[in-house]
Amino acid sequence: MNKDCIFCKIVAGEIPAKMAHRANGIMAIEDVNPQAPVHLLVFPERHVADIAEHTFKGSADEIACLMEIAAELGAKNAGGFRLVVNTGPDGGQTVGHLHVHVLAGRPLMWPPG
Ligand code: 5GP
Ligand code: ZN
Repeated sequence: MNKDCIFCKIVAGEIPAKMAHRANGIMAIEDVNPQAPVHLLVFPERHVADIAEHTFKGSADEIACLMEIAAELGAKNAGGFRLVVNTGPDGGQTVGHLHVHVLAGRPLMWPPG
């Protein structure tokens, strides 16, 4: 656990969150500032800064599990969904704990800003 990390605090129960899924070291919560009618965040319970760090550690299985859970949650929405992994400042990452956004419930524009 990283004591300065918001998502680690959510994992530890120190900050409340609306849980959508929790099993096998992976958690999904509702985003506190939703950008679509469905906006979930899927992340590993252990602290990993971003997907680049994750890849360098060779944890492909954990990335696959994250994407599998995110896709299962997204697929509950008949109209389709989008998975997003913002990485680094230019990638729009604001929380330094790897997470996959699941967005659904409305038509999503492309390209992103
Ligand atoms: P990023 O900008 O890093 O890709 O995404 C971080 C996301 O975390 C944002 O969509 C933001 O709304 C969400 N977020 C930040 N703090 C909290 C929090 O305390 N609780 C929840 N549920 N979501 C949060
Ligand atoms: Zn963390």
